[in-house]
Amino acid sequence: MSDALSRREFLGVTGAAVAAGRLEPSHGFPAPALLLRSASRPMAVGSLNGLRGINLAMELVSKGGDTLDAAVEGVKIQELDPADDSVGYGGLPNEEGVVQLDASCMHGPTRRAGAVGALENIKTPSAVARLVLKYTNHILLVGEGAKRFALSYGFEEEDLLTPASREKWLRWRANRGNADDWLDVPADEKMVERPTGTVNLNVVNAAGDISSVTTTSGLAWKIPGRVGDSPIVGAGQYTDNDVGAAGSTGRGESNIMVCGGFLTVEFMRRGMSPTDACLETLKRVIAMTPARLLRPDGPPAFGLTFYAVNKRGEAGAASIQPTKYAVYDGTEAVARDTAYLYPRKK
Ligand code: ASP
Repeated sequence: MSDALSRREFLGVTGAAVAAGRLEPSHGFPAPALLLRSASRPMAVGSLNGLRGINLAMELVSKGGDTLDAAVEGVKIQELDPADDSVGYGGLPNEEGVVQLDASCMHGPTRRAGAVGALENIKTPSAVARLVLKYTNHILLVGEGAKRFALSYGFEEEDLLTPASREKWLRWRANRGNADDWLDVPADEKMVERPTGTVNLNVVNAAGDISSVTTTSGLAWKIPGRVGDSPIVGAGQYTDNDVGAAGSTGRGESNIMVCGGFLTVEFMRRGMSPTDACLETLKRVIAMTPARLLRPDGPPAFGLTFYAVNKRGEAGAASIQPTKYAVYDGTEAVARDTAYLYPRKK
């Protein structure tokens, strides 16, 4: 068993759930359509920048590793990579030039969750979220408290800005408007887009145990203190070990409004395929989108993608407009096209 949860604890929780009949229909919900008595197909699915993470996660799972450890080790590749400016070290900062990181995770077999929000100066928020899950009675730690918690476990405090992310921030600050004291820089140096990015991974092993993790530096140039969907359990990611797991990347506020990770798992519980469940959640997002966030021709002016896997090891993803996602094909991680709600205009 993993370092995340002891074998005794794992057996205790699972055994208690069976004894209490919790693995049978309860709470007035329909029976989990995917409750399995046989083996699952090991699987991992997530955001496109999770290709390397999926390969590592599947290798760990094939050696008997725990699904949460596999997912966290997978996303740490991106957190530690200075070239990925959407997450961890090198992630783009808030409007004051400070990198604030968000992450959350869930471990299906023990039904536990952990998360951190607005965490500064620690490269791997997913690993800190896993420690919240493992060692506390809480689920979400934020800001200074989350940092002190990480430091108490030996994490090092580091400057998370790389030369490249600092340069992007400085150029954004110079170009955001004429009503301040920052001089504009030439038009060809303007940073026109407002980048977003995140890595989400959802992993199932052959025993049908499931875990999920999402980690991000959030929306670039955000208002200090803003947290997105990634550290919100039920939005940025969610796992129910009877059914499956789901996670998201894209405009966090729109996901939070529909509790998208949870909702996608609920749609799978009612029998939908992972892809259909993701599409159905996106339809709910559209229904909740205010007019100011819609383009004149109809579609929302933001991106949002959901990734999902069920207990059988079937996986899928869907987005507002076509994009790609990462999934295990039985041998290695590959990039595939998402299902989508609106075609891209030529
Ligand atoms: N979901 C992230 C957030 O809103 C950003 C992203 O995935 O691009 O913080």
